[in-house]
Amino acid sequence: MSIPSPPRAWREQKYRYRLVGVKCTRCGLTYYPPVVVCTKCKSTELTTIELPRKGVLLSYTIIHYPPVEFKEYAPYAVGLIKLEDGTEVIAQLTDIDFNELRPGIKVEAVFRCLKTQGEEGIIEYGMKFRRALEE
Ligand SMILES: [Zn+2]
Repeated sequence: MSIPSPPRAWREQKYRYRLVGVKCTRCGLTYYPPVVVCTKCKSTELTTIELPRKGVLLSYTIIHYPPVEFKEYAPYAVGLIKLEDGTEVIAQLTDIDFNELRPGIKVEAVFRCLKTQGEEGIIEYGMKFRRALEE
Protein backbone atom coordinates (compact mmCIF):
# COMPACT_ATOMS: atom_id res chain seq x y z
CA MET A 1 0.00 0.00 0.00
CA SER A 2 1.42 3.38 -0.97
CA ILE A 3 1.13 6.57 1.01
CA PRO A 4 -0.79 9.24 -0.93
CA SER A 5 1.19 12.27 -2.05
CA PRO A 6 0.31 15.49 -0.18
CA PRO A 7 -1.75 17.05 -3.03
CA ARG A 8 -3.92 13.93 -3.28
CA ALA A 9 -4.31 13.72 0.49
CA TRP A 10 -5.33 17.37 0.48
CA ARG A 11 -8.02 16.81 -2.16
CA GLU A 12 -9.39 13.84 -0.25
CA GLN A 13 -9.40 15.87 2.93
CA LYS A 14 -11.53 18.57 1.26
CA TYR A 15 -13.96 15.88 0.17
CA ARG A 16 -14.16 14.51 3.69
CA TYR A 17 -15.03 17.91 5.10
CA ARG A 18 -18.46 17.65 3.53
CA LEU A 19 -21.04 15.28 4.91
CA VAL A 20 -21.66 13.23 1.79
CA GLY A 21 -24.16 10.41 1.76
CA VAL A 22 -26.34 8.73 -0.83
CA LYS A 23 -30.04 8.83 -1.58
CA CYS A 24 -32.03 6.01 -3.14
CA THR A 25 -33.70 7.40 -6.26
CA ARG A 26 -36.49 4.83 -6.02
CA CYS A 27 -37.68 5.06 -2.41
CA GLY A 28 -35.90 8.20 -1.22
CA LEU A 29 -34.11 6.67 1.77
CA THR A 30 -30.79 8.33 2.63
CA TYR A 31 -27.64 6.68 3.95
CA TYR A 32 -24.48 7.71 5.72
CA PRO A 33 -21.95 6.29 5.19
CA PRO A 34 -22.84 5.64 1.53
CA VAL A 35 -24.08 2.19 0.52
CA VAL A 36 -24.26 0.60 -2.94
CA VAL A 37 -27.59 -1.17 -2.51
CA CYS A 38 -30.65 0.26 -0.77
CA THR A 39 -31.49 -2.06 2.13
CA LYS A 40 -35.17 -1.13 1.94
CA CYS A 41 -36.03 -1.58 -1.75
CA LYS A 42 -32.82 -3.29 -3.05
CA SER A 43 -32.35 -0.62 -5.70
CA THR A 44 -28.81 0.10 -6.86
CA GLU A 45 -29.75 3.52 -8.20
CA LEU A 46 -28.30 5.76 -5.55
CA THR A 47 -27.16 9.33 -6.02
CA THR A 48 -24.63 11.25 -3.98
CA ILE A 49 -26.08 13.98 -1.81
CA GLU A 50 -24.75 16.40 0.74
CA LEU A 51 -26.45 15.79 4.07
CA PRO A 52 -27.45 18.41 6.63
CA ARG A 53 -24.81 18.69 9.33
CA LYS A 54 -27.23 19.18 12.19
CA GLY A 55 -29.41 16.68 13.93
CA VAL A 56 -30.74 15.34 17.19
CA LEU A 57 -29.20 12.69 19.41
CA LEU A 58 -31.56 9.70 19.62
CA SER A 59 -29.48 7.45 21.86
CA TYR A 60 -25.88 6.88 22.85
CA THR A 61 -23.51 4.47 24.46
CA ILE A 62 -20.19 5.05 26.22
CA ILE A 63 -17.33 2.85 25.03
CA HIS A 64 -14.81 1.95 27.70
CA TYR A 65 -13.01 -0.90 25.93
CA PRO A 66 -12.70 0.00 22.23
CA PRO A 67 -10.80 -1.77 19.43
CA VAL A 68 -7.05 -1.25 19.75
CA GLU A 69 -6.83 1.58 17.16
CA PHE A 70 -9.24 3.70 19.22
CA LYS A 71 -7.68 2.81 22.57
CA GLU A 72 -6.13 6.22 23.21
CA TYR A 73 -9.54 7.90 22.91
CA ALA A 74 -11.35 5.75 25.47
CA PRO A 75 -13.69 6.26 27.12
CA TYR A 76 -15.73 7.91 24.38
CA ALA A 77 -19.36 8.13 23.43
CA VAL A 78 -20.98 6.84 20.26
CA GLY A 79 -24.38 8.21 19.34
CA LEU A 80 -27.26 7.42 17.05
CA ILE A 81 -28.11 10.75 15.43
CA LYS A 82 -31.09 11.72 13.33
CA LEU A 83 -30.11 14.43 10.87
CA GLU A 84 -32.49 17.23 9.88
CA ASP A 85 -33.49 15.34 6.72
CA GLY A 86 -34.20 12.13 8.67
CA THR A 87 -30.98 10.26 7.86
CA GLU A 88 -29.83 8.18 10.81
CA VAL A 89 -26.10 8.19 11.46
CA ILE A 90 -23.99 6.34 14.01
CA ALA A 91 -20.95 8.41 14.91
CA GLN A 92 -18.55 9.22 17.69
CA LEU A 93 -19.46 12.16 19.89
CA THR A 94 -16.78 14.69 20.72
CA ASP A 95 -16.23 17.81 22.86
CA ILE A 96 -19.08 16.83 25.12
CA ASP A 97 -19.30 16.03 28.81
CA PHE A 98 -20.86 12.61 29.36
CA ASN A 99 -23.13 14.25 31.94
CA GLU A 100 -24.63 16.41 29.19
CA LEU A 101 -25.57 13.42 27.06
CA ARG A 102 -29.26 12.73 26.81
CA PRO A 103 -31.62 11.85 23.98
CA GLY A 104 -33.00 14.96 22.30
CA ILE A 105 -30.00 17.28 22.49
CA LYS A 106 -29.03 19.02 19.26
CA VAL A 107 -25.75 18.01 17.68
CA GLU A 108 -23.72 19.00 14.62
CA ALA A 109 -21.07 17.31 12.50
CA VAL A 110 -17.46 18.37 12.89
CA PHE A 111 -14.32 16.89 11.39
CA ARG A 112 -11.77 15.55 13.80
CA CYS A 113 -9.00 13.05 14.05
CA LEU A 114 -10.63 9.62 13.85
CA LYS A 115 -7.70 7.38 14.63
CA THR A 116 -3.95 7.14 14.43
CA GLN A 117 -2.72 4.33 12.22
CA GLY A 118 0.32 2.20 12.84
CA GLU A 119 3.84 3.19 13.82
CA GLU A 120 4.03 5.98 11.22
CA GLY A 121 1.28 7.73 13.15
CA ILE A 122 -0.79 8.55 10.09
CA ILE A 123 -3.78 10.46 11.34
CA GLU A 124 -7.09 9.75 9.70
CA TYR A 125 -9.73 12.43 9.82
CA GLY A 126 -13.43 11.90 9.74
CA MET A 127 -16.76 13.01 11.01
CA LYS A 128 -17.76 13.23 14.63
CA PHE A 129 -20.63 15.04 16.28
CA ARG A 130 -20.52 17.66 19.00
CA ARG A 131 -23.26 19.52 20.80
CA ALA A 132 -24.67 22.20 18.49
CA LEU A 133 -23.59 25.67 19.55
CA GLU A 134 -26.97 27.33 19.09
CA GLU A 135 -30.00 25.68 20.60
ZN1 LIG B 1 -34.64 2.35 -1.86
